[in-house]
Amino acid sequence: MFITIEKVSKTYETRNGPIRALDTVDLEIRENEFVSIVGPSGCGKSTLMMLLAGLVPRSTGSITIGGKRVEAPYTDIGIVFQQDVLLEWRSILQNVMIQAELRRLDRKKLEARARHLVELVGLKGFEGMYPHELSGGMRQRASICRALLHSPPLLLMDEPFGALDALTRDQLNIDLLRFWQQSPTTVLFITHSVSEAVFLSDRVVIMSPRPGRIEEIVDIELPRPRRIAMRETPRFLDYSRRIGRVFESIGILREE
Ligand code: ADP
Repeated sequence: MFITIEKVSKTYETRNGPIRALDTVDLEIRENEFVSIVGPSGCGKSTLMMLLAGLVPRSTGSITIGGKRVEAPYTDIGIVFQQDVLLEWRSILQNVMIQAELRRLDRKKLEARARHLVELVGLKGFEGMYPHELSGGMRQRASICRALLHSPPLLLMDEPFGALDALTRDQLNIDLLRFWQQSPTTVLFITHSVSEAVFLSDRVVIMSPRPGRIEEIVDIELPRPRRIAMRETPRFLDYSRRIGRVFESIGILREE
């Protein structure tokens, strides 16, 4: 198993007392699997991601990635957040190259890869532009390039398309899948959107409200490559309904 999360919990100590963000979480993820996590705000999705990245210490349990136990910031990953966190004073290419600079990697070699990635995500011709000259979708494409520059075996994405309009979001979903099929990597994708999770994933992990627990895991057995039109098919709608029903059963979706 590429990732093993075993009996992991997290309690934050705050001025107002402890906040139990994650209850006991057990999850295994195969190499090159695309797994999404859906759940209500505050259920600990970002916490789980921070624990995986070793950026926040866990309260109990163990996490291993690629056979190594996560005890300190785990660097062999790429992270994409909802906000693109691009540096406004650097061009798009220079923003992507930050990853090489911070990791002290071979800049010459990686600049070629940076240019290749930028082209793959449809930003060819924009390498020298500055973030404010780009749309939200283009900025997020650039931050995906930055996250992938060092070819990480694990890509963590925390609501990466949550701030984009629906059409741009659809396009980025399609492009992300195309990229992932060309250069497979393990992806853990956090989203509020059930339909986005079903569209992208091999498995969808449904989390309960705080303290977050895994309520159910749904295997998405839709063929790949996935097409936007698949979202209208009975099988796709069945998966969405099934996930919706889990949310109803735990009191997340109420009709009145
Ligand atoms: P989600 O990503 O699902 O919205 P989070 O992981 O951000 O959830 O947060 C889970 C819970 O933990 C929330 O109640 C939040 O207020 C709390 N929390 C998150 N980070 C911290 C922190 N650094 N200190 C204290 N509480 C936190």
